[in-house]
Amino acid sequence: MVKQTKVTDIPLIAADRTCLGVQDDPSIMAEVERLLSHPARHIRLNDEINRLFKDRIWPQTSKIIRAWMIWVAILGVLTFIFNILLLPPDVSKSMVRPGAMLPPIALAVALVWRRPRATWLQGSLLIAGVFAILLLIALVGVSAGGEFYERHLNIMLFVAITAIIIFGIPLVWTVIIATQALSIYFVFQLTNPSLELGSALASMLLFTTGVVATVAARRNMTILAQKAFLFELRDRRRVSEQAEVNDRLECLARTDPLTGLANRRSMTETIDHLWNKGKKGPERVAMLMCDIDEFKKLNDHLGHAEGDRCLVQVAGIIQKHVRRNLDHVARYGGEEFLVILPGMSEKQALCVAERVRKKVEAASLPNPMSRVSQNVTLSIGIAVQVPNGENLSSEQLQCNADAALYRAKQLGRNRVIIHRPATSIHDDIAERKAIR
Ligand code: GH3
Ligand code: MG
Ligand code: MG
Repeated sequence: MVKQTKVTDIPLIAADRTCLGVQDDPSIMAEVERLLSHPARHIRLNDEINRLFKDRIWPQTSKIIRAWMIWVAILGVLTFIFNILLLPPDVSKSMVRPGAMLPPIALAVALVWRRPRATWLQGSLLIAGVFAILLLIALVGVSAGGEFYERHLNIMLFVAITAIIIFGIPLVWTVIIATQALSIYFVFQLTNPSLELGSALASMLLFTTGVVATVAARRNMTILAQKAFLFELRDRRRVSEQAEVNDRLECLARTDPLTGLANRRSMTETIDHLWNKGKKGPERVAMLMCDIDEFKKLNDHLGHAEGDRCLVQVAGIIQKHVRRNLDHVARYGGEEFLVILPGMSEKQALCVAERVRKKVEAASLPNPMSRVSQNVTLSIGIAVQVPNGENLSSEQLQCNADAALYRAKQLGRNRVIIHRPATSIHDDIAERKAIR
């Protein structure tokens, strides 16, 4: 069977392991299905899917972290200004040093998170940055003392909770940030000179419960995001499978099942495409209409199966002797083949047709009852035309090639005939009728 390039000849397993080709990896997709068959709370991504998940959410996570850092920096600057303007100088002076350090640290972390870096580096810088920010917020209040002491510790916890909720980071990082926030709170609450131990412990217990609940909520959000990602992978696989089936159907609809050549429908599309190219297309197009001589006799005497084998062989010979990527060969009807040779002159087309005819003859495929020869022979009609030239349609070209073919039959078969414009088409058609 003649080999054709099909749209579906795509490797099943993509070498590229990025998220894009992942739907074609059977082992990953099997794991996705396994994970989705369990309740969401049991979802535990393996290393490979986890890496894909991180790659997928990186742009969003980085955007959120940077926005949060910028928000903290802006709030830091505003608070700093208001404190200086509104508070008594001795209070605001004590707040200056920790307050001034906060915005640059937040901006530095935002800068680091602009591009993906090694996970450990990203994680450590984020954790260190958040710790510094929380500590500085606490220190602003601690250095001012009085009413500012506990207020800033509460602000610090509020800032920490917003980070825990909105940062889509690994659970370990979230837990570290939560622990840091609570540690800062504990240390400063326990050393708060205006607070009794019992009152400090009560507030610590209250805030610990709140922070732990926030971490649990964050964990659930991450699991839901992972589940959504798994659904996305499954959808991608389904879409890709559907596209593959469509490609296959499209290919089947355009291919002759016996010879593997393009079929008549496909050839009509190819011709239309060439004709519609206008000036961008070839300046002329040669068409060969090939017909096996006395094929009915071959069928009658050697059987239909032998006839089929002969068709496959002839298709292979024609395909082999035209230009691989330029010319188009189709099985046009029962034992008729149509060849399009873009850009070829009459002389060149004649050369190709003669070569094909000789090769078929030389193949010595048996047709013992043929009146032409003991072996299979081919008659070929050629027509050459400028696409859209002189307002001639592609149907006209086919009509001319067909007329030349019938002339070849009339003149004894096993030959190549070129259609000459001087020969009236009507005459040719009349001759065809007469032959029949
Ligand atoms: P001519 O030299 O004038 O072309 O004579 P011919 O016998 O080749 O032409 P005709 O049109 O009389 O017969 C064509 C035969 O091709 C008839 C049909 O049974 C046979 N045929 C059409 N399609 C197939 C096919 O797929 N397989 C086989 N084995 N035979 C086919
Ligand atoms: Mg025929
Ligand atoms: Mg025939």
